[in-house]
Formats: sequence, structure tokens, C-alpha cells
Amino acid sequence: MSRLLKENYQKLEAYIPGEQPKDGEYIKLNTNESPFPPSPRVLDALKREDIENLRLYSDPTMSALREKLAQLYDVKSENIYLSNGSDDILNFVFMGFSQNGAVFPDITYGFYSVFSELHGVDYKEIPLTEDFRVNYKDYINKDKLIVIANPNAPTGDCLGVWEIEEIVMNNPDNLVVIDEAYIDFGGESCYPLTKKYDNLLVVRTFSKSRCMAGARLGYAIGPKGIIEDLEKLKYSTNPYNINRLTATLGEATVESEDYYLKTSEEIIRVREYTAKKLIESGFEVLPSKANFLFARSNKISGEKLYQELKARHILVRHFTNPKIEMFNRITIGTQEQMDILLGAIEEILNGGTK
Ligand SMILES: *Cc1c(COP(=O)(O)O)cnc(C)c1O
Repeated sequence: MSRLLKENYQKLEAYIPGEQPKDGEYIKLNTNESPFPPSPRVLDALKREDIENLRLYSDPTMSALREKLAQLYDVKSENIYLSNGSDDILNFVFMGFSQNGAVFPDITYGFYSVFSELHGVDYKEIPLTEDFRVNYKDYINKDKLIVIANPNAPTGDCLGVWEIEEIVMNNPDNLVVIDEAYIDFGGESCYPLTKKYDNLLVVRTFSKSRCMAGARLGYAIGPKGIIEDLEKLKYSTNPYNINRLTATLGEATVESEDYYLKTSEEIIRVREYTAKKLIESGFEVLPSKANFLFARSNKISGEKLYQELKARHILVRHFTNPKIEMFNRITIGTQEQMDILLGAIEEILNGGTK
């Protein structure tokens, strides 16, 4: 750190992304990426001309991609906001809608507290229930910005649409943001409620079920007024927030719904298979509607299991927060990858070290 950074940023503790190892081949089950490539249509979408056109700025309104998403979800273009990854939207949410402070679960996506600190937001973390669930009743009449990952991460539990509606109805003067990064793995989306309430924003990403984390593309579905507010913040920050290549790939992605329905179904199938096997090996596995499992065993600490798996070139995500330090978050890969993981876990539990 230099002497020159503004004082309010000097104490900031930045978000720490999951490891992206460079020392050889790993089975990467630590950052909830898809094990599958983007659809064939996406693989063929870029032409030489698209690269030549990089000399031109991208369309700041992203009208073509917005229109395609609007059709898919039966809303209007004015109800869609596009961004460079959904983290960018969450940043604007904490920047722009937190005048009364913010609340979110104590165990959730780590970026929420980082954005709160970044923007000097007065925030409160609401404890999960004893069985690691979000209880919607804890979010009634909060009169603050509410941000909930649904399904939640790293736990995987998912609120029903009626529970979210209760939260939205009972906080009419504040924005409720539902982060649906994992909604395609078995949960029910609450986006239809954005037509009925002017204080609900649903945030989505192409990084997980759309197999495109590296392209950096996220979007929000919401009432026109909120989308206009986000646009104002965007045009005051970075009007060309999405590059041309990503926009083209995004359009091909929206045209490939069938492919992504199939890959998401396969992830769900392999998740249920993996959960069953882990439970047979004595793990407690939280019920998950996401592309990961959160599991602990009383035979081995979370840290030790993480280290032993890493020694075998399998990466999972371990968190040091004392409330969840016995757990590991395991991204669902292919069936083959999960069988290798399960074999390694058996070996570790039987006393093998590396
Ligand atoms: C992965 C993730 C995101 C971020 O997605 P990007 O679009 O890649 O920025 C947002 N929220 C949650 C809960 C996530 O797990």
C-alpha cells in the first residue's frame, strides 16, 4: 500500500476470489464454474469480422442482447440491465440503494460485506437458522436494503417465491435484491414478481449455469425505475461496460436455452448422486438447490480435508469463519470428476496421507 490511497480505503479488506492454480492440472471444484463448455452455437458465434470491429466501441445500450433476454423472460427491454458480471450490479446496488443501511445473512456471498465496507454502508448481518437456512421472517419490516442470494451460497438452500414476496411486500420503501446466481439448479425464480412490485431487483449471471464465467456477463430483471437508476450509475462509471465479443457470445447463449437446460439437469443429477455417496460415507450434506454441496464430517476437519484433497490435485472451497469451518463447499463437476473426488475422500478417511 502506498501513502497516497484515501484513508477510507486503506482499511478496506478486499474480496478474496477462489484459487485459480497455475501449478499444473487440478480438478477444480472450488469456484462453482460449469464443467461443461458453452453451447455449440456460442463456440461458433465469433467471426473474423467481430474481431475487426473491436476498433469500434460496443453499443452502450446493449439493445440486441437486452431484447433477446426480454423476450426470453416475457418482460420489456426497459426491465433488463446488463453488466460486466453480476458483481458489477451488486456493487451499484450497495452504492446506490443503501441510504437506510443494508441487511443480509451472516453466512452468504462474501462480496456483500465487502461492497458495504467499500461504500461506507451501515450493515447488519442476520444469523442463519441453526440448520443453516435463511428464515424469511427475519427480513420482515427491516426498512433497509435487503440482499439475499437465493439459493444461498455457500449453503445451497432456497426460499420459495411466496417467502420472497412476503419480504418484498413488507419492506415497501427499500430495495430487495435477490441474487439468483444459482437459480437454474432447481430453485424457482422470483423474477415474475418484478412486474408487480417496484422495489424488487433480480440479479442473474452467465457465469454459472451459462458456462461462461470468463466472459464476464451479468444482468438484472427489475421495474423500469430501478433499471433507469442502474443505467444512471453505469453512465457515470463506465458506459461501455460490456465488450463486443461478450455481447455476441451472450446473444448466442440466449439462443441456446435447450442446451443449458440439459447441462443444468445433468448438474442436478450428479449433485444428487454425489450427495448420496457423501452421506453414505458419513458426511452431513446440507440440502442444495445449487451447483455445489456444503458438507462436513465429524471424522475430519474441514481444513484437513481441503488440504488432503489439494495434495491430490482436487480443489474445493474451505472458509475459515468459525461457524462453518467444519464444512467444505464442493462444486459439482462431471460424473467422472465426482467419482475421482469420492475415491479420494474414501482414501483420506481411511487414513491415507499425501
Ligand atoms: C458467482 C456469484 C456471483 C458473481 O457472478 P459474476 O457474474 O461472475 O460476477 C454473484 N453472486 C453469487 C451468490 C455468486 O455465487
